[in-house]
Amino acid sequence: MIHDRTGEPLDPDDEPPIAGPRTTAEANRHRLAARAADRQRAINACTLCGDDGYRDAAVCHHDPRTVDAARRGIALVYATMGWAARKDGTP
Ligand SMILES: [Zn+2]
Repeated sequence: MIHDRTGEPLDPDDEPPIAGPRTTAEANRHRLAARAADRQRAINACTLCGDDGYRDAAVCHHDPRTVDAARRGIALVYATMGWAARKDGTP
């Protein structure tokens, strides 16, 4: 029998159930499910990638600013190296 700090016996059946995940495995499942749901929401809201979250053959970061940043970065590399710019304008 378990007693509280005043010496009164505690009945485990009177304890309220613990809210939330009880085990690490269950907590991991909840965390993974939440992460998958977040990822799917980001894909659904993105106009850059397909339903699989890929843009062309690359994983999409769902941030349109990365497209411009990549273009500016590759243009800087080409200019620094003295290479001719790509004709199609793609990074
Ligand atoms: Zn995307």
